[in-house]
Amino acid sequence: YTAVHPVRRPEGRPARDDFAFVTGTIPGLQDGQVLVENLLLSVDPYMREALEFEDWQEGFGMEGRTLGRVVASREPSLPVGAIVFHRHGWSTHAILGPRDTRRIVEPADGVPLSAYLGILGGTGLTAYVGLTRVAKLQPGEDLFVSAAAGAVGSAVGQIARVLGARRIVGSAGSAAKVDRLVQELGFDAAFDYHGGDLSKKLAEAAPDGVDVYFDNVGGDHLEAAIDGLREFGRIAWCGAIAQYDSLRTPPAAPRNLFDVVGKRIRLEGFLVRDHGDVRPEFEDFITPHLRSGAVRVDETVVDGFENIVDAFLGLLAGENTGKMLVRAGS
Ligand code: NDP
Repeated sequence: YTAVHPVRRPEGRPARDDFAFVTGTIPGLQDGQVLVENLLLSVDPYMREALEFEDWQEGFGMEGRTLGRVVASREPSLPVGAIVFHRHGWSTHAILGPRDTRRIVEPADGVPLSAYLGILGGTGLTAYVGLTRVAKLQPGEDLFVSAAAGAVGSAVGQIARVLGARRIVGSAGSAAKVDRLVQELGFDAAFDYHGGDLSKKLAEAAPDGVDVYFDNVGGDHLEAAIDGLREFGRIAWCGAIAQYDSLRTPPAAPRNLFDVVGKRIRLEGFLVRDHGDVRPEFEDFITPHLRSGAVRVDETVVDGFENIVDAFLGLLAGENTGKMLVRAGS
């Protein structure tokens, strides 16, 4: 097998030299184990955080959500040929035992396999949980989402539309992404967050304010959103990608944090892993919308396992639209 290991803790933004490709011989299987050839691998922002703390020695490579095909099996419930979801990514192969997360995936008609790592998987579930369980978005309400052209952000905008949101506003890192949000993903307005006053940009895009802010970015985006939220607004705090490169330095609090009191805003953080029970409801909700095209499978697929480090670094630099995936086989 070939796998990727982190070889040092990154200083600030990770670089290619922080990782090494290593090769090894696949050991023989024991009873209850299967050998999986990894086909599609997810690279995610949380891996930046994990590089600070993670004990990754469990599998061949670092932890990561992956879809693969069983190529040898000593476990009757996982026959050769089955497509499984598991978390031993960053490697061409994985050995899964009884204690590992693993689930057979049987793709529904009209839905590509890759969607199970994106809009139909944890990414879509994150968007759905944040909107329905945390922000409790109501039909007719207005929404702002940051990192809107990314995986979670583009799911948030599209799902909010289906849930009956009125004005949907997004921010993203380039003019091309902003165009895409409005032209292709159904956003009512969008802006490039680079340069200029973010509160002003948000006020131009949502002149009457918003009821819900879905935060993927933190920092100055959170500050601008507190300015733009109406009374009794809600913030579903999902991530803070603007801060992940400096996790060892505590970020400055938004200067307007106390406005949360005056405006009676509810700010609530959440982790999708606490909401696995919502998955069946979410799959029933999203599948018809994927089939009808009301919600798009939005993804950037990098070909070749040898490019996985570049794909991860590209994700942090905003080279993706939608879910960033690596295709290692077919
Ligand atoms: P994305 O597909 O959104 O990729 C990350 C994007 O972040 C990039 O495309 C880039 O787009 C943007 N970005 C990078 N740096 C900055 C910055 N300094 N300021 C603003 N935007 C930046 O990733 P995901 O959809 O997978 O994740 C989005 C967020 O959701 C992350 O914060 C992640 O940690 C969080 N998350 C939280 C979960 C939970 O359970 N709470 C579960 C899953 C994700 P651009 O070109 O626009 O800059």
